[in-house]
Amino acid sequence: MIIGIIGGGQLARMLALAGIPLGLKFIILDPDKDACAAPLGEHLCGDYDDTELLKVMANKADVVTFEFENVPSSSIAFLSNSVDVFPSEQSLETSNDRICEKTMFKDLGIPTVPFANVENEKDLNSAVNSIGLPAIIKTRTMGYDGKGQYVLREAGDVKKAWDELAGVPLILEGFAKFQREVSIIAVRSKQGEIRFYPISENLHEDGILKTAFSMPDDAIQAKAEGYAKRILEHLNYVGVMALELFDTGEELLTNELAPRVHNSAHWTIEGAVTSQFENHLRAICKLPLGNTEANGYVKMINFIGEIPDRAELLATPSLHLHDYNKQARPGRKVGHATIWSSSKLK
Ligand code: AMP
Repeated sequence: MIIGIIGGGQLARMLALAGIPLGLKFIILDPDKDACAAPLGEHLCGDYDDTELLKVMANKADVVTFEFENVPSSSIAFLSNSVDVFPSEQSLETSNDRICEKTMFKDLGIPTVPFANVENEKDLNSAVNSIGLPAIIKTRTMGYDGKGQYVLREAGDVKKAWDELAGVPLILEGFAKFQREVSIIAVRSKQGEIRFYPISENLHEDGILKTAFSMPDDAIQAKAEGYAKRILEHLNYVGVMALELFDTGEELLTNELAPRVHNSAHWTIEGAVTSQFENHLRAICKLPLGNTEANGYVKMINFIGEIPDRAELLATPSLHLHDYNKQARPGRKVGHATIWSSSKLK
């Protein structure tokens, strides 16, 4: 089978690395001639809305998926006319807009932070009045890794944030006083079978995921699975989905969903019987899903900007290095390492 992937970054690269042993082939659309997934398949080098290249992908691929959310919806609609695209356009659209996403959580009875749509300064002031401070203002679309968002702590911050962000659709959210950030990664097949990975506990620096721990047997697992199941079934979802959550100690609140494989579950490559990448491919290819159980404990560390000394890293027992082969650049995810253990890590 040939799998089309929109986006040729590290997620596409790890999908291809998981799919090649299954006999799958890849065709990858990415405008960067040095896209790090490109060496693993046929590279269509051009824009995500290049109709000629989308036609080539639609003709050659048996199924198409994507590695990031901000794929133009026109491209997904275009491809969907002639080839299966998973997850669906509806799943992508819902997750792309924080208001749609949070409204869905609310409608499904899944706890989330209080939120309000902000279209003008008057909306913002009344949202601040009803939600209270601290609060967090975010762009409704195109936000990732904490970009396009500000914490409002005092009245003076409200005007400042408005001056900065006015002109794009916004959401105001109540500030969650969480004890930890966690995520649950789930996979659903076309036939409706669902499997869950053990949750990940995630530590961020400057809005970017820095470290994730696999947490087999965590007390909140069942609750997190319940939330994810409702969403997967509601969206008739096919593939891997990540749900980011805030654990306040009293409540488990949803933050956002990612309709794709997720950085917080890179540990599944070495730490689960079947990785999230393989299971995403199995789901979209209508193959049986693989076992999602953990086979130990894993700590994953993201390398942001550059990869530390390789010899030193590789001298660490049970460490696996994943070098994405990307140019070093501040703030860029260029690789990660996982450290595996048979006992719990800290
Ligand atoms: P996001 O872009 O929604 O994933 O947010 C990036 C990071 O900002 C999250 O991982 C949290 O650390 C923090 N954050 C986002 N939304 C909230 C919120 N409503 N309350 C508290 N912290 C938040």
